[in-house]
Amino acid sequence: MKTEFEIIEKFFNKKAIKAHKGIGDDAALIEKDGKTFWAISTDMLNEKVHFMPNTDPYKLGWKAMAVNVSDLLAMGASPMFALLSIALPKSNSDWLKKFSKGFFECGKKYNVELIGGDTTKGPLTINVTILGDVNKKNILLRSNAKIGDDIWVTGELGLAALGLKIIQKKINAPSTITKKSINALEKPKPNMLIIEKIKPFCNAAIDVSDGFISDLNHILIASKVGAHIFLKDVPMNKWIRKTEKEDLALYGGDDYQTILTAPKKMRSKIEKLLQKNNLELSRVGIITKDKKLHLSNNDKTIKLKKGYIHFEKN
Ligand code: ADP
Ligand code: MG
Repeated sequence: MKTEFEIIEKFFNKKAIKAHKGIGDDAALIEKDGKTFWAISTDMLNEKVHFMPNTDPYKLGWKAMAVNVSDLLAMGASPMFALLSIALPKSNSDWLKKFSKGFFECGKKYNVELIGGDTTKGPLTINVTILGDVNKKNILLRSNAKIGDDIWVTGELGLAALGLKIIQKKINAPSTITKKSINALEKPKPNMLIIEKIKPFCNAAIDVSDGFISDLNHILIASKVGAHIFLKDVPMNKWIRKTEKEDLALYGGDDYQTILTAPKKMRSKIEKLLQKNNLELSRVGIITKDKKLHLSNNDKTIKLKKGYIHFEKN
């Protein structure tokens, strides 16, 4: 089986004709008026692939909305409207009550209004399409990182991946970390405020859904540049670092944090905004001319593993 990226590339990757930006970014962009684009994106959650059977329906509802919000934020866009398509094996009022509560609570947090969808019978599948808009001056394309840009990341990485390992009983962690990481996995909270504040100073962005290294690579390939990342600056929980589980932060998926790049000359402006608003944003590296991803720890090069992929290669 090919990877999901090879499938898209081979069978679906058509050039945009009417859209400003089609396939290949976190959302498509369509002309709205002279100053603004519509941003539109869709994401699907499948039982046993993206969530375990018996996942708390409230959290599932929250996550279905949150992962879509994350893609719009990564374009610099403000989320506005959503469509919800859902296939259900059976009608279970208790489940639906909790699911819809989570879905709407997340929608309220990010100002998203549900305006339509589809409901069918079938294996549990949840698909949300999200629509928002973005001032043309603020768009954050994967393809717009520039040589010399600082690379920034919101929040902390690796918690969701740790949560998954704990649920799978592959890792044992102290109870506070356990609670925090399972919550990060099941109830992601994209950092809208940070992106709102700093997007006027940024060039490129992507959200971290597949894993930091894997998603940073999408920026590098689209922008035809490389990067140098300093492991000590990659934001992660102290326990993850202390127990040498940095790979969770580098390769683990489902963080729904955002990677942004911004010109070096914007650094002091961004740092002032962070201090003033008490925002959690870390500068983790620089964009380079050499088209390679270089990771180092105190001047020592660290060999990269392959990022997480949804489909097995053969
Ligand atoms: P993300 O992780 O940000 O949701 P993906 O990695 O899923 O993005 O997809 C990469 C790009 O490919 C996106 O622009 C997405 O819209 C597009 N894409 C994914 N699947 C298909 C498909 N079946 N047909 C057309 N475009 C697709
Ligand atoms: Mg994305």
